[in-house]
Amino acid sequence: MKTDNADDLSQLEQLDNTIILKVLKRRYEKDIIYTNCGDILIALNPCKELLIFGENEHNQYDWHNFSDIPAPHVFHTAARAFRRMRESQTDQVIIVTGESGAGKTESTKFMIKHFVHMCQSDNKELHEKIIKVNPLLEAFGNAKTHMNHNSSRFAKYLELSFSETWDLTGVIIRDYMLEKSRVVHRSTNEGNFHAFYSLLLGAPKETLKALSLDKPINSYRIMQSDPDSLIAEARYKEMYKEQNKVLQQIDTSPHVVDSLLAAVIHLTEIKFVESSTVAGASEILDLEPAVFVSELLSLKVEDLIEALISTKMTILGDEVRRNKGPLQAAEGRDALAKMLYERTFQWLVRQINADLHPNRRGFGQLLSTSILDIAGFEKLPVNSLEQLCINIVNERLQNFMNERLFQFEIQAYTDEGIDMMDVAFENNDVLISFLTKSKQGVLAILDEQSTLQHGSDMAFVSQLTDLYKDSSIYIPPVTNRPEFTVRHFAGKVTYNASGFLEKNRDLLNPELKDCMKSSQDEFISDLFTVKRGPTGTISATVHNYGKSIREQEAPALPAIASKRAKQLDDLRKSLAAFFKRKEQATTGVFGLQKITTNKTNKTIVSHFRSSLMQLLDKISRAEHFFVRCLKPNEDLRQRDFTDDVVTEQLKYNGISQMAKIRKMGFTYRRTHAEFVLRFSEAWPDTVPVQENQYKEAATDLLQSGNIPAELKNDFRLGKTKVFMKEPLVSWMEGVLYEVH
Ligand code: ADP
Ligand code: MG
Repeated sequence: MKTDNADDLSQLEQLDNTIILKVLKRRYEKDIIYTNCGDILIALNPCKELLIFGENEHNQYDWHNFSDIPAPHVFHTAARAFRRMRESQTDQVIIVTGESGAGKTESTKFMIKHFVHMCQSDNKELHEKIIKVNPLLEAFGNAKTHMNHNSSRFAKYLELSFSETWDLTGVIIRDYMLEKSRVVHRSTNEGNFHAFYSLLLGAPKETLKALSLDKPINSYRIMQSDPDSLIAEARYKEMYKEQNKVLQQIDTSPHVVDSLLAAVIHLTEIKFVESSTVAGASEILDLEPAVFVSELLSLKVEDLIEALISTKMTILGDEVRRNKGPLQAAEGRDALAKMLYERTFQWLVRQINADLHPNRRGFGQLLSTSILDIAGFEKLPVNSLEQLCINIVNERLQNFMNERLFQFEIQAYTDEGIDMMDVAFENNDVLISFLTKSKQGVLAILDEQSTLQHGSDMAFVSQLTDLYKDSSIYIPPVTNRPEFTVRHFAGKVTYNASGFLEKNRDLLNPELKDCMKSSQDEFISDLFTVKRGPTGTISATVHNYGKSIREQEAPALPAIASKRAKQLDDLRKSLAAFFKRKEQATTGVFGLQKITTNKTNKTIVSHFRSSLMQLLDKISRAEHFFVRCLKPNEDLRQRDFTDDVVTEQLKYNGISQMAKIRKMGFTYRRTHAEFVLRFSEAWPDTVPVQENQYKEAATDLLQSGNIPAELKNDFRLGKTKVFMKEPLVSWMEGVLYEVH
């Protein structure tokens, strides 16, 4: 592949958004999807297979042989990071962002493939494994959305570790922000996580029978909104098989995974109705799903039901139970289903890590190159807490990228021997501080409100307004609804704060978690004890659990389907008696003033701060590379480059920033000759006598050319080029115009 002068946007003489768009479009039409912007790689989704990821390219972009600068390519980014890690002995991070469907995950996979290629060595088995775990990760973490039929619904940080001899020794995957709400809610025609379809449509009949999942897929509440999933039955059979192969590779029993999914499905089938005997309380409509869940999770069904329909509180120092109405009970049930799914996903990630993590063999600190695959800046019709969190992360990532863009700009001046002292570049530090500082930052205020007895979404917004109404980055609500607007680097976003507090508090009642911890099955109780988040990635318990599965025979599926009619009837009677006793114990305690809810739950925001912020701090200590993914149109159609769609993304992912930075400095940059030949008509005295005197002529013109005093600081003379700011350029063009 040959280089082209449009390979690098930062080398263009003129740079604004229109030019960037034009260059990208022209290249895209020729199937050139990669373009550099300084050392940032812009990657357009080709929306079709391109033959540029084969053995040839692997060899061409090997880390040690780029003698001349090759055309931009995602392999090149990987190779540069690898080379840089070796040379500087510093950890590297490749930050991959973009909208959903822009090609982040595909790019990440290509880079991993290239890393594996670059350090070809004896450890073939590990290399293969690293690539093979992907289907499992995608089955549980991906789903079909409007934007992407295989959209990752979590952020992924992949850390590739290298030995002293630069062989790949292992990988650690950290997952963030799984969109667990998808288990129970999503927009029409979007799918649930692939794993559910893979089980219900892909597993053998006997397995489904044993799990009592033999009804048609559409009859399950959480499987109802994706009609075309049915067409793909053959694909799901394949997926189920492939997934189980990976599970075996990582010493994990497919049965355990199937039962966890089955438990989520049965749990969400439980329905509540108003109690016929106690006002404000609820009853379970059909006991069967509850029994299935308790069987699958080794719980006492009475405990499960009690935790679902009532809640524990401390009133005036006494612990009492309070009944939940049907709506509240249903919320708790869904919160539990989401958590169970999330814990399953996180456990699988830990199992993968246990299999792939670097074997230190007693050496010192290993160096690593990591890849962060994370959603870019979001501005939706309605923006909620999720968008706020993702935008905060992007604000931080943009900060790293700005530094990089500045460096490139500054390099251009330094190369020309120009002192940069008086060119000021703005940054988004103020925004980051406004959003995340621990005292009076947006997140801190939200957390504070969430712990208050009388906290409200409106009070949260009012507090923000009191503190920041005079700030240029905050715009108070214009209506009396709880909303506020933030001027992000990529533009203004209005957040609808209704429900922020509730979301932040996380609806899972502690007693539901306690109930799970009380499981007779140590594994289930562990699942709810292991801390959330990326820490303790390779927890000893879980790792051993993986082993124990291998050592013993895979546990048989619990034959829950056998609990039928008569048994259920008996159970109903005994439950009735059980709750009769409880009821007597709990009546008459309401209407008291002082209620303290159990505060053992961490808020969503504090979890976000501790896990993602920790990651960002870690990233800030490494060196960065950037891959900015763009989709050419909304529906990923072939051969369709929609200007508006791309322009919007250039803004959101900070590429326009390059043009903005250019604007803050000296936008005009031409060689001495070009400059003199252009303006000599208006300044005839400065025409050089000889070819090699252009520099002197340019100096002459700028120093004695009657330039108005207020523009005298608007130019710099470099070694080979003249640099000017816009006002001076206009003035000179004006003079030239008059002469004509
Ligand atoms: P994201 O992770 O940004 O949401 P994906 O990486 O899942 O997006 O890409 C979405 C789809 O676009 C993929 O399923 C694939 O069909 C297509 N795609 C993305 N990048 C490429 C590529 N380099 N070559 C071919 N197809 C691609
Ligand atoms: Mg993805």
